Amino acid sequence: MTVELISVGTELLLGNIVNTNSQYLSEKCAMLGLSVYYQTTVGDNRERMTEVIRTALNRADLIILNGGLGPTEDDITKDVCAEVMGVKLIEDADIRSRLADWYRQRNRKDIPESNWRQALVPEGAVVFPNENGTAPGLALEKDGKTAILLPGPPNELYPMMENQICPYIQKRESGAIRSQMIKICGYGESKVEEMLLDLIDSQKNPTLATYAKTKEVHLRVTARAETDEEAKQLLKPVVKEIKKRFGAAVYTTDEKENLEDVVVRLLKKYELTVTTAESCTGGLLAGRIVNVPGASDVFREGYITYSNKAKRKILDVSKTTLKKYGAVSEQTAREMAAGGVFATDADVCIAVTGIAGPDGGTEEKPVGLVYIACYLKDHVSVEEFRFQGNRQKIREQTVVQALDLLRRSILKNYKKD
Ligand code: ATP
Ligand code: MG
Repeated sequence: MTVELISVGTELLLGNIVNTNSQYLSEKCAMLGLSVYYQTTVGDNRERMTEVIRTALNRADLIILNGGLGPTEDDITKDVCAEVMGVKLIEDADIRSRLADWYRQRNRKDIPESNWRQALVPEGAVVFPNENGTAPGLALEKDGKTAILLPGPPNELYPMMENQICPYIQKRESGAIRSQMIKICGYGESKVEEMLLDLIDSQKNPTLATYAKTKEVHLRVTARAETDEEAKQLLKPVVKEIKKRFGAAVYTTDEKENLEDVVVRLLKKYELTVTTAESCTGGLLAGRIVNVPGASDVFREGYITYSNKAKRKILDVSKTTLKKYGAVSEQTAREMAAGGVFATDADVCIAVTGIAGPDGGTEEKPVGLVYIACYLKDHVSVEEFRFQGNRQKIREQTVVQALDLLRRSILKNYKKD
């Protein structure tokens, strides 16, 4: 099934907001095994929207529109789509009473008459109630083509897609599609592709797709078959082979889990507490850890020891070390990690020190030079990195590598097999 995504909104064209819905919907379609051939964006303009919808219906089996379902005059997606497909709008009593409930619960009186337009649906459309807003989602089928209309606000669109639209699409697809995510840290995308070249070249079923993230590569393996069980069996050997090639660099095969989730999960599993000692990342690392619900079980303290004085005072980094090797050095990172453990009595300390730029680099110590140290069980491992990019990119990469060093250190010390 081929898909075209249409985002509606003049504010998208003006650059006022970033089209994150498109990215999200594309990813979801890939997971469902659908081929997205076009993404279009159109303003709140009747003529141009008509043209875009007409074109999309000509070249795709399924079109997914988002935005412009609201109650105001410029929200015209539903009207235009119904008109292009030659379907009448009729009032849906269910939605009308849901709307009335919604306004009552929020104590809203004097509802503008135009708001009730949201209760109009194209005749014969499937209606998906909106749990987080007023505009329901709609699916409209005509002449072998389907149009799905979704609200623009991401907090309404995501749950609707997840809970209602994906199952709806899946039910209509014949056969089964199953995909497996494999998340890898520490390899660049081209290296990953090189290591999987034979698999990528011969791919038909399952297919392999790579997505590059900051210092991470995510791989999606997708199989199609008559039944779900068959698809599962097709996936199995390929997933196993990929895991074998990347070993411990594979940090999860769970779609929903990210690197900090895994770190917190491992810390909990082995009953460890962690402290962070950060220089160039200035709290970003602690922030990522604290993002994980339940981090309080494992997170002790986070220090931002930006100045030499702070490194000395809080982490007891020796004056001689700072003088002899400098703040950005293996030795300093090592002492920061040890100091963090002693200052807080945590089991683990992860410490970072580096030059994020744009100033401060020298030939010997260029911008992007970063040391990350992990203290665990009376042993400190230190890794040196030379990151590329601007200040922000360098700091982001540092955080990812720090989380990964922490993860690998725990596995090395605790994982039995
Ligand atoms: P509303 O009832 O809020 O008017 P709507 O379905 O009409 O919803 P829009 O008016 O197009 O949707 O957009 C509402 C808000 O949703 C936008 O201001 C923006 O914050 C967000 N939004 C819309 N489209 C996108 C998009 N493609 N990507 C990310 N956010 C979006
Ligand atoms: Mg709107």
